[in-house]
Amino acid sequence: MKKLLALLFVVLMMVACFAGCGSKDTLVMGTNATFPPYEYVDDNGEIVGIDAEIAAAVAEKLGMELEIKDMEFDSLLTAVQSKTIDIALAGMTVTDERKLSVNFSDTYAKGVQVIIVPENSAIKTVDDLKGKKIGVQTGTTGDIYCTDEFGQENVNQYQNGALAVAALNNGQIDCVVIDNEPAKNFVKANTGLKILDTEYANEDYAAAISKENTELLENFNKALKELKDDGTVDKIIAKYIPAE
Ligand code: GLN
Repeated sequence: MKKLLALLFVVLMMVACFAGCGSKDTLVMGTNATFPPYEYVDDNGEIVGIDAEIAAAVAEKLGMELEIKDMEFDSLLTAVQSKTIDIALAGMTVTDERKLSVNFSDTYAKGVQVIIVPENSAIKTVDDLKGKKIGVQTGTTGDIYCTDEFGQENVNQYQNGALAVAALNNGQIDCVVIDNEPAKNFVKANTGLKILDTEYANEDYAAAISKENTELLENFNKALKELKDDGTVDKIIAKYIPAE
């Protein structure tokens, strides 16, 4: 009996060790990797970008292993709430509405909603969008603002920005409302498109974390502050957004 207990003890210790020893805690980040330069899939099939690098730097500070899950943008908040992911970093704008379902970290970047049009478009200002066919990425702030202001019947939703821009190229819509940095990437990758000078909305980007996980929120903010103070965040942003 004693021997059996001793054996049981050893087995239990081994199980505990497999679960805990050596294996770092994992920080599971959700994103939508169609949003360059914040997150996109590179030529090696890896998810890279500003958000991925900031998350990796934070994880390192917290002694955690970073795992990135790619999902639709409009599933991210539900995934945070259900704890399928620990954190969402996706060029996500802080809004009062979203704050009802998740906590936001301190902000780490600014975004601007801009308007992409064909070079010869008659659309010159935000007012000209009235009655036009507007393309957006589903569930984004661009989608929410345009639906509020111009009516759902004038807004065409696409699963990502590239699909919206493709529809613009095909003449199916008159413009695309999207964040400025992805907009620059999409315009560069296509001919005959331009970004209007007018800024449709100014926004702050932050990470979304479950309201129940205040410990992670505190740790994330602390690590982020250190990374801002020592210039790491600026360096990451400058790497992906070269000064013009
Ligand atoms: N900043 C926008 C938002 O939060 C778009 C983000 C995105 O498409 N990844 O809604």
